[in-house]
Amino acid sequence: MKIQKAAVLGAGAMGCGIAQVLSQAGIEVILKDIDQAFVERGLANIKRMYDSRVKKEVLTEKEADDLFALIKGSTSFDGFNNVDLVIEAALEKIDVKLEIFKTLDEVCPSRAILASNTSALSISEIASATKRPEKVVGMHFFNPAQFMKLVEVIPGVKTAEETVKIALDLCKQLGKTPVRVRECPGFLVNRILFPYMNEAIYVLQEGAATPEQVDQAAVEFGLPMGPFTLFDMTGIDICGHVNEFLYSEYGPRFETAPLLKLMMKEGQLGQKSGAGFYVHEKGQPAQKDAPKTINPRLEKLAKEAGTAATKASPPFDVYRVILPMFNEAIYAVQEQVVTATDVDVAMQNGCGLNRGLLSIAEDKGLDWCLKQLESYQERYGERFRPSWLLRQLARAGIHDFSKLEKAPAAVR
Ligand code: NAD
Repeated sequence: MKIQKAAVLGAGAMGCGIAQVLSQAGIEVILKDIDQAFVERGLANIKRMYDSRVKKEVLTEKEADDLFALIKGSTSFDGFNNVDLVIEAALEKIDVKLEIFKTLDEVCPSRAILASNTSALSISEIASATKRPEKVVGMHFFNPAQFMKLVEVIPGVKTAEETVKIALDLCKQLGKTPVRVRECPGFLVNRILFPYMNEAIYVLQEGAATPEQVDQAAVEFGLPMGPFTLFDMTGIDICGHVNEFLYSEYGPRFETAPLLKLMMKEGQLGQKSGAGFYVHEKGQPAQKDAPKTINPRLEKLAKEAGTAATKASPPFDVYRVILPMFNEAIYAVQEQVVTATDVDVAMQNGCGLNRGLLSIAEDKGLDWCLKQLESYQERYGERFRPSWLLRQLARAGIHDFSKLEKAPAAVR
């Protein structure tokens, strides 16, 4: 089925980006929110994005107007009886999503695919609110959806292969890079990113490095920005909730750093509150390359939360925050959530890493990764417990994940 008419639920940051991307591919879109003011704000944001494409001479004014005209704002379900696809991008609350999917099931034609842009909630659970779980799928776009290439396509337990195929084909039609991810908490990219973000906070609360030192090391490693800049941009409370969720699902590997909890409690939430790890002008969009001033409250909060570095603590090495990413990615491969090749595609297109994550691990040597993780585990505990697959590969002298992908399915 080729998608010609779609609807997007939620005219917030993600819904607008997704509606724009759909319209750019010539798809008619109903953009629905609960309040007319939210719909208008969303449409104005999309119009601004189209205007900037005209300014940059990517589109002519006529082309931009024609594409923008494909999007119709709404606060009702009028027209939903004729859509091929709905992408839900409303609040990240399971009760809200269950209610939405129950209604969508009633108002949409039986052919329609119902997709959710949830960052972490269970697709299988969301699908259970409908009588068509085979047509429900996760389509996890990354922010900003207009620019980020990656879409994680996540089938629930009852999703039909045909539905997955339609979602993957649509992503390609939209100029995106889809990666199929087996459903698991945090899906793929967030699951890999959070052990790195969380570890960066442990480094800080031990006094082993400053936020600028860690951020700079991460950028030199090949990430577009460091963890503390990302924390402040995303919102420290949002990150804290995601990490707590991952901790509740995966256990000690994700044990939330005490300083992260303390910053949430103290309302030091990043850009939106005016101060996080750095100081910001409240309400102004974060500038990733602007000069940074450390939050003056940070030192005291870090001391309150932290275990001071002992004399025996080694100097900060960027691999202390990178190894947990390698390890979590290998756990995901071990669980067949994704292939090693797709880990690399996802981390490049969803995080802007300048090389494949597992290719870097291969270059370092899987036996080196294992030894490092074991030594960090001895010092810092279960956050560094190496995956069983990494042990197996390192002990067998295998340094190349492609060997694994060529193995018969029964071995994988
Ligand atoms: P947002 O708060 O910017 O926008 C959410 C919008 O949904 C609001 O305008 C709200 O009024 C509307 N809404 C609430 N209930 C609704 C309903 N019943 N019907 C229609 N609209 C409704 O949120 P966001 O950042 O755009 O996130 C939306 C979804 O996308 C969440 O599930 C989030 O986890 C996910 N997501 C967010 C990001 C991100 O970086 N912001 C990235 C990937 C996925």
